[in-house]
Amino acid sequence: MANVRLGRTELVSPKNGFGGLPIQRLSMDEAYRLVRKAFDNGIVFYDTANSYSDSEEKLGYALRDIRDQVIIATKTKAATVEAFWKDLERSLELFNTDHIDLYQFHNPAVIPMPGDGTGMYEAMLEAKAQGKIDHIGISAHKIHVAYDAVNSGLYEAIQYPFSYLADEEEFKLVELCKQKDVGFIAMKGMAGGLLNNGRIAYAFMEQFDNVLPIWGIQKDAELDEFLSCIDNLPAFDDEAKAIIAKDQAELTGDFCRGCGYCKPCPMGIEINNCARVGLQIRRTKEAGYFTQAYQEKMEKVKDCIKCGQCMSRCPYGLNIPELLEKHYAEYQGYLAKHLAEL
Ligand code: SF4
Ligand code: SF4
Repeated sequence: MANVRLGRTELVSPKNGFGGLPIQRLSMDEAYRLVRKAFDNGIVFYDTANSYSDSEEKLGYALRDIRDQVIIATKTKAATVEAFWKDLERSLELFNTDHIDLYQFHNPAVIPMPGDGTGMYEAMLEAKAQGKIDHIGISAHKIHVAYDAVNSGLYEAIQYPFSYLADEEEFKLVELCKQKDVGFIAMKGMAGGLLNNGRIAYAFMEQFDNVLPIWGIQKDAELDEFLSCIDNLPAFDDEAKAIIAKDQAELTGDFCRGCGYCKPCPMGIEINNCARVGLQIRRTKEAGYFTQAYQEKMEKVKDCIKCGQCMSRCPYGLNIPELLEKHYAEYQGYLAKHLAEL
């Protein structure tokens, strides 16, 4: 498997990183088994975040006796210096380590900078001076924030959603990172679950020698698919390109990536699922979307009071109430068809 050098961090990882968000949904034992299987098969880069409920705890539990053999990247959403230190100390404790290899600001609206009055970047520098973190990074969902981070010269690595649905500006961002020697970590390589061919996603990533994809892994089958690419490199051939073109045609424009940044909704609507359910059904064809529980979840969409709170938090600027209505209608169509076929 090819290695990726993460810019001037000089961290080097095989081109399969482990995204720690989905293991929140596993038990401690299941998470342990999956993470160790990943490690036993050559995955050394593990990314998570303080805000992914118990993901740090699970990764920490699974990696504690092999800490020196892995790279740990995590993130803080802290908005104050006090909260920053609290988050960092908690991460160190959960990973049972004295240092985090890459510590990242988690999707801030604007990049923290020295002298901006928040003290956040200075806190990063202090944490680095104390040896509690090795490198300073940032994750972003908005392209202009990512560009600011790279151009500022303040960040050694950035994390940004990058898949074969990327647009021109995003391809340029990858190139800019290369020029400026900033590490590029690609999150959402499967577009939040909307892409369903891991081998093609992997083949796409292979074209970029400075991009480290972190795959969100929850099941053995997902892990196995990425691991299979190591010994049996998927071809980026005409067949793969045709599948990509078809997906690009279907998944352009305003669609929900399922990131969940819009939460919470005061009416209890599960936006990250309900605002894309039509796409999910179309692409996965799974019957799990028609259970009683899922139908009830979709019925809550009708409670939307259009308060706009979610839209102010969506990094993609989506008109969420409109999307919810659209997917509710689509869902009703699929549900009727499903019931008729029973
Ligand atoms: S606009 Fe609707 S979906 Fe969004 S937060 Fe308000 S009630 Fe929830
Ligand atoms: S509506 Fe926006 S913030 Fe909410 S899950 Fe979808 S893409 Fe993410």
